[in-house]
Amino acid sequence: MTEMAGGGMAEPLLPELKASDIKSLTQEELLAEVASLGEKPFRAKQLYQWMHQKLARGYDEMTNLPKAFREKLREKYTYTSHTLVERRVSAVDGTEKYLFGLSDGNVIESVLMRYHFGNSVCISSQVGCRMGCRFCASTIGGLTRNLLPSEMLDQVYAIQRLTGERVSHLVVMGTGEPLDNYDHLLRFIRLLTDENGLNISQRNITVSTCGLVERIRDLAQERLQITLALSLHASSQEKRKALMPVAYRYELGDVLDACRYYFEQTGRRMTFEYSLVGGVNDTPQDAWQLAKLLGGMNCHINLIPVNPIKERDYVQSDQNVIAAFKNKLEKYGINVTIRREMGRDISGACGQLRKGYMEKNAPHKEDGIL
Ligand code: SAH
Repeated sequence: MTEMAGGGMAEPLLPELKASDIKSLTQEELLAEVASLGEKPFRAKQLYQWMHQKLARGYDEMTNLPKAFREKLREKYTYTSHTLVERRVSAVDGTEKYLFGLSDGNVIESVLMRYHFGNSVCISSQVGCRMGCRFCASTIGGLTRNLLPSEMLDQVYAIQRLTGERVSHLVVMGTGEPLDNYDHLLRFIRLLTDENGLNISQRNITVSTCGLVERIRDLAQERLQITLALSLHASSQEKRKALMPVAYRYELGDVLDACRYYFEQTGRRMTFEYSLVGGVNDTPQDAWQLAKLLGGMNCHINLIPVNPIKERDYVQSDQNVIAAFKNKLEKYGINVTIRREMGRDISGACGQLRKGYMEKNAPHKEDGIL
């Protein structure tokens, strides 16, 4: 069991958002900051536009702002802009995986997927993760820290800058548990969907969670039009515990009640993710139990053939087992799809690109550099 699975939620690793992180501020907050520097309100508008529409990489690019004003900004506020550490492009389907460097030396992973309906970016919400899911590479080193709203935003901005293509969709399915970084996540969503920013539609945003019940209920009350995806992965409490330590903290029934509440409050159909692990949760009995569990709910199940990671000996289910599982669910009237694997040729499971990089580049603790 991980540290968080047993007890209460630990304190956030970063002190609450500081006003000095300029790209995390709303337009209103920015207005107040700019006024405190003795500048006119229209400067706040220009500044916001440079950050969130023109996607400037720093104050130097903001050529219509007076130099003295830019100097003041530089002194008072940090400006988040990721450095590109690595970019891999799939020869198969045009998917791109990125490693970005943060100002404190950490690296995070983001993915661009090209679909017929537009470009979708998958972002990380934390550096590492403390949820401990057994099959997931992102959680192996534990949680380092939460990402700031600006650090989530700049994954999207950097990819749009680098490709020159508009990002229209977003999934929060990279490294980290987004609801474990709740306040920063909400602020990020508000900035990303702001009509004076990239103006991405809430309906084009999906947040995936391992199921932090209180936070799902909080999110429901925000009444956003985003899609919530719940990582279910098992149809019984016992099996879920074996795959996801978070299940020691929340009963399956309570998790599903929170999902129903989310639907009631928002009218948004739930998505359930179910990673099929060979010989663990892929039997006809599992499919039947899953159908029984979700029967009558307005939902969609996304089956994900597990992506094996070298640290664990989980294997993918056979193709015919996957097809049979899907058929069985359909027979029970459940809406189900199998997730198409993107960018297969450019590194395996989620979080593996970052993990590989860390293993190669991270200094050893004994060196005293950390
Ligand atoms: N913490 C969030 C979001 C990050 S993971 C969550 O748990 O939902 C995004 C999805 O990928 C989750 O459903 C997760 O369980 C799944 N996942 C992670 N590693 C995987 C792997 N090796 N194979 C298949 N699915 C995986």
